[in-house]
Formats: sequence, structure tokens, C-alpha cells
Amino acid sequence: MQLNPNVIKEDFPLFKKHTSLAFLDNASTTQKPQCVIDKVNEYYNEYNSNVHRGIYQIGEKATYEYESVRGKLLQLVSANDNYSAIYTSGTTESLNLLAHSLSKLVLKVGDEILITEMEHHSNIVPWQIACEKYGCTLKYIPITEKGEWDISQIDSLITQKTKIVSMIHQSNVFGTINPVKKITELAKAVGAKVILDSAQSIPHGNVNIVDLNCDFLVFSGHKMLGPTGVGILIGKTEILNMMPPFMGGGEMIYTVSMESSTWNEVPWKFEAGTPNIAQVIGLGAAIDYLNNIGMDNIHAYEKKILAIAEKKLSQVPGLKIFGNPQKKGTVISFELDGIHPHDLAQILDEHNVAVRAGHHCAQPIMNKLNVPATIRASFYIYNSEKDINQLVNGLNSALKFFSIQ
Ligand code: PMP
Repeated sequence: MQLNPNVIKEDFPLFKKHTSLAFLDNASTTQKPQCVIDKVNEYYNEYNSNVHRGIYQIGEKATYEYESVRGKLLQLVSANDNYSAIYTSGTTESLNLLAHSLSKLVLKVGDEILITEMEHHSNIVPWQIACEKYGCTLKYIPITEKGEWDISQIDSLITQKTKIVSMIHQSNVFGTINPVKKITELAKAVGAKVILDSAQSIPHGNVNIVDLNCDFLVFSGHKMLGPTGVGILIGKTEILNMMPPFMGGGEMIYTVSMESSTWNEVPWKFEAGTPNIAQVIGLGAAIDYLNNIGMDNIHAYEKKILAIAEKKLSQVPGLKIFGNPQKKGTVISFELDGIHPHDLAQILDEHNVAVRAGHHCAQPIMNKLNVPATIRASFYIYNSEKDINQLVNGLNSALKFFSIQ
């Protein structure tokens, strides 16, 4: 089935209010279809209550709806029985959970953690904190001008000391789809645990956790049409069972005495306190919506829209696209000669084009590129060629405004 962005757009109430908006900041967050908003409202209107507690009908309904989303998430990534799904507040919390609990399980003084120069800050800072705490070294796979990993020295980066490898599946700056399987193989050969930051890959195509053979995969609901405030950690149950809890409180315990406590089973051991119930339930509706379109169809459409966008942008005088990776998703970072990205974003806003200007929470990449910021346009299923034309028109107007042409 060919995906029609104009038909899809009809499902999103925000575009009824902002009829001429070209929303091109999808790598940051996506818009929400009516069915997701309705599902969240249904929870509050019809069965609002806490989960796992009320022995009454609406409490049981809320628990059923909340718990049933785990199965949808596991199915989404083709997980088998070896994996469990844990709800968090976002990719950031999922990575912090791992940096806390997995680190405690596997790290000792002198060990090494390997990440890459392409990471989002949420996959850098938690490991810096863990390294400081456990006396470990943080190593980085470098990146090339093309916006790809340079794995020529990988043998010196993955050694017997490497205990954790945590890497970005698809770049939020260059769009690069990284060769994570190759790195996972090398990491597994030395017994390291492997984490994939799939915040930018899960919304855009089929991701198969068994095929990728990683131990943990993390992503955010709000980048895949779901509500904000819900994230996911899918991990090997065997390792999760051995990991100590992240936060303490209600729900994550089995027994509590004045002296000590025992822990609930996985996944609840990692879900302290009242969770983001409405958001999890809303995410379930987002997964249904995406599955209905088909992740393969989404991927095929995005390839098409990316090619059109790259072609049209390359015709804008003075425009430089950062990176040129072989395998790439629908993210384009660029600069327009002589115009500061923040000024450019403001002019584009006047043309009703929403793009992101900044370091995209990836300052090591900006340092490598020797720029303070870039403009980033990122596309999703409701974006059409019309949005690209609007972006290009906005860029040409900016050029005129700054009298560069
Ligand atoms: N990793 C990547 C690759 C991202 O793009 C983002 C969001 N920009 C994050 C992690 C953090 O996600 P969140 O803010 O939803 O926790």
C-alpha cells in the first residue's frame, strides 16, 4: 500500500488548526493523531484509577489497558520470550536506568564503556557519571566527515575491558543508519552488554531486536505519535533479573520491613511509584495506528520523501548539508552560507515552516563539524512535497532578505 500523507494528515487535529504549517521537527517530537488523544481522554473520562491496586472494575480495566501495551511493544520490535518491556518516562530515563542498574551489575575499577561521537547527550552524560562512580574509562568510536562511524580502529576500542557498548541506531543529526549489528558481534565476542538507542529508528521502520541481537533497546513514545512522558526499555529478562532496582518506592517491592525490602519481579521491579498510565495507554493507540499503516510502508515512503528533499535542498544556493552517509533516514542537517541557524529558523517560522536550530543535544558532533549549531529538517508520515517546497521557498526568501543572491 502506498502511503498518502494528505490522507494521514486528516487524522491529526493540530493540522486542522494550523492549516499552512510545514512541521519539520519530527526528530524532536511528532504530532498526535486523534485516536491517540481519544484514547488518553477515554482513560480519564471512563476508567481513571491507579493500576495494580483497585479491586474494582475501573481499576481492573485501567490495569488491563496499561499492561496490554507491553505485548504491543514487544511485538513491535519482534521480541521473543527472552525479552521484557519496562515503561519509563522516555529514552533519557531508560538510559539513566541502565547507567545506574546495569553499571552496578557489571562494572569494576579499570573497566571500559564504549559509546560513539554521534550520541545524543542522553547517551553520553549518564555514562560519564557511571565512569566517575566506578573508576572506569569512557571510549568513543569517532565519526567521519560523511557522518558515519570510523570503525577502522575498532579492535583497539573493543577489548577484554569493555563491559558495556551503548550506541545510537539512527542519528538525530545526520540521519545515519548505523552498522550496529557489526559492532554488536564484536562486543558480544568480549562478553560486553549491548544497548541500542533506537529513539530515532523505531518510528521509521521495522526494528527486530532478535536479529540485532542487542541486550537492551530504548526509545520514546512521543517520537512515534504517542504522548510525552512515556519511554520504553526492552531488555533481556535474564539480565534484568540480575540488575538491582533503579528507584525505590511503591510497586517495585515484594515485601518491606523496617530493616530491608525485597523486590518485585521484572518488569515491575523497575517501575517505582504510580506510572504514567494515560501516556502508556495512549502509546498503545499510537502503535495500533502505525501498524495499521505498516512500518514497511512508512519506511518506503520516507525514502521517497528524503530523496525529494535532498534534491530540492541541494539546488538552494549556498546550502550545505552536513554528512552524506550511505544509509540514511529522514533527517537533514544543513547550513545556509552566511546566515546564523537561529536567524534562519526565525525567517522560516515567518513562512510557517517549523525546523530545529541548535546543537540537537549532540555537542560533540557540533565540535567535530566546527559549528555552534545547524538547522535540522526532519520528516514523518504526514509531510508531503508541499512541505518541502515551503521550506525551499522560505530558504530562498532568507537569501533575499540577507541580500546574498
Ligand atoms: N536519543 C536520541 C537519538 C534522540 O534523538 C533523543 C531525543 N531527541 C533522545 C535520545 C532523548 O529522548 P527523550 O528526550 O525522549 O528522552
